[in-house]
Amino acid sequence: MIHENLKSIHTQLTDDIKLIAVSKTQPIDKIQEAINAGQRIFGENRVQEAQEKFTILKQQYPDLELHLIGPLQTNKVKEAITLFDVIETVDRPKLAEKLADEFKKTQRFPKLLIQVNTGNEKQKSGISTAEADEFIVYCCNELKLPIIGLMCIPPINGDPSVHFSLLHEMAKRHKLKELSMGMTKDFEIAIQFGATYVRVGTGIFGSRY
Ligand SMILES: *Cc1c(COP(=O)(O)O)cnc(C)c1O
Repeated sequence: MIHENLKSIHTQLTDDIKLIAVSKTQPIDKIQEAINAGQRIFGENRVQEAQEKFTILKQQYPDLELHLIGPLQTNKVKEAITLFDVIETVDRPKLAEKLADEFKKTQRFPKLLIQVNTGNEKQKSGISTAEADEFIVYCCNELKLPIIGLMCIPPINGDPSVHFSLLHEMAKRHKLKELSMGMTKDFEIAIQFGATYVRVGTGIFGSRY
């Protein structure tokens, strides 16, 4: 099933769009199945769960690319940069500063995306749209962080297009190349708005446990 799902999603992607298989809550045997089918980029929401599942897998498959797509607490930064290749959820100055600090200490430099709360939802992480431009400049120019792009999770209800479009414009303004947007139910729309990474969970693995 996983193999077929991956195949059918790939028919909708062009070469410049990368598929992140979101494996949160999924057991290792399902992840292994995806790896056997050729999938190499995975996304996890929580540092500890990702450590438990991917520490050994990453030794077995050195070409795996692991993305953190969930909120990151500053006290987990060190562990996160040891494990993840890309951190997509940089969303506040304190976290950005901590990342800059730990990069220096550990000499590990995972790539980073800034998460923008495009719907300005109170309960959601991400920098607000009002503060985003300034925050991007701060991260890139002052902290010299390796910011490669932007990420968003549109509000659950409503048309995601306006959010994808807003993120696209913002990335263009700052000459950032990568756009992580679109999940199982809306990745086709995200692609129309220039997504370079789509994050698909249930569409690959089926429902979560
Ligand atoms: C869970 C999750 C996804 C995948 O969601 P699906 O609807 O299962 O495709 C994508 N992005 C983030 C940030 C997530 O937390």
